[in-house]
Amino acid sequence: MERELRREAAVLIETDLMGLPVLVVGPPGLTASTVRRYERAGAVVSVVTAPGGVTGEACARARLGVLVGPASTWATARAALAGRCPVVNEPVPDAPRGRVVLVGAGPGGLELMTLAGIRALADADVVLTDRLAEVGDVAALAPGAEVVDVGKRPGHHAVPQDEIERLMVERALAGSTVVRLKGGDPYVFGRGGEEVAAAVQAGLPVTVLPGVSSAVGVPGSAGIPVTHRGVSHTFTVVSGHVPLEPEQARALAGLGGTVVLLMGMHNLVPLTTALVRGGLAVDTPAAVVERGFSPDQRSIVGTLGTLPDLVSRARASSPSVIVVGEVVRQSAVWAARRVVAPPADKIVLDVVA
Ligand code: SAH
Repeated sequence: MERELRREAAVLIETDLMGLPVLVVGPPGLTASTVRRYERAGAVVSVVTAPGGVTGEACARARLGVLVGPASTWATARAALAGRCPVVNEPVPDAPRGRVVLVGAGPGGLELMTLAGIRALADADVVLTDRLAEVGDVAALAPGAEVVDVGKRPGHHAVPQDEIERLMVERALAGSTVVRLKGGDPYVFGRGGEEVAAAVQAGLPVTVLPGVSSAVGVPGSAGIPVTHRGVSHTFTVVSGHVPLEPEQARALAGLGGTVVLLMGMHNLVPLTTALVRGGLAVDTPAAVVERGFSPDQRSIVGTLGTLPDLVSRARASSPSVIVVGEVVRQSAVWAARRVVAPPADKIVLDVVA
């Protein structure tokens, strides 16, 4: 049936559509060449760019519905058109089309980015980069690309997420290869999922290149393995952006494994307190690894009970990864910790180079 209709439409468009009301449905940016073709054939074209826009009213006048690219899967659009007029699917036209590549930059330094990521930058027309994507001179890695810094910097507001997505989609629809460069791995607290959804919704091809996540790489760089045979066979990565709910803290404590907290430095006291209330011993080893992979990387090592005080004395801040669990004892920094002040469990430790 569909094949017949498509043939029918193809014939029609070669012959005469003069005055025929045609409703073209498809994501923004993908419909232009279809619209041009039908208009050249004399049709009176109206365009709808979102599934919700295919209303009864929009369909009422149409004598032909054309679903472009991903719109062929828009069930609400198909249902609204059904029975009113013939409907044809059109593949996305071959016009210059861009794409989106999400690249995980790793936790710091170019060497921790994948080769695939470096190649993607070399091919990019546009790079949207983040504050945490510290890979050095992005412009040199992406010669010829327009580099847009959409991350937060002191004194500057970050570009809001919906604006980043809008920019990314707009540029790709205009034919550019857009690389979205993100710190660590794009899918670990990086809003990568939302950006992929925005690209897919716009009908764009999208690729995600993983990155080394700070959640694993930064503790590792301080000698802390997130799992260790016989010590911990599970690790949970948690956002410390907001304090833990009591039942979350109980659940984490109950797992008996490693807890890795990102974005938690401003909540260190409530986080450690919640974990103790949730059932972890106050002397559970805990560490903060600050500015991983930078020349001034530091580890502050103590226990759940002592860590907040040690951290404030060391004036450690973000970006840091907080690691809680027996695995912390595996690190050289645990072995090397020294008492800086009584009581004896107050230990600080500076850097591990
Ligand atoms: N997508 C990133 C995480 C983004 S959330 C990833 O996979 O690594 C940002 C948090 O990551 C920071 O608040 C901090 O907790 C952590 N982080 C990122 N880079 C870091 C680094 N170089 N050193 C220490 N912590 C880091």
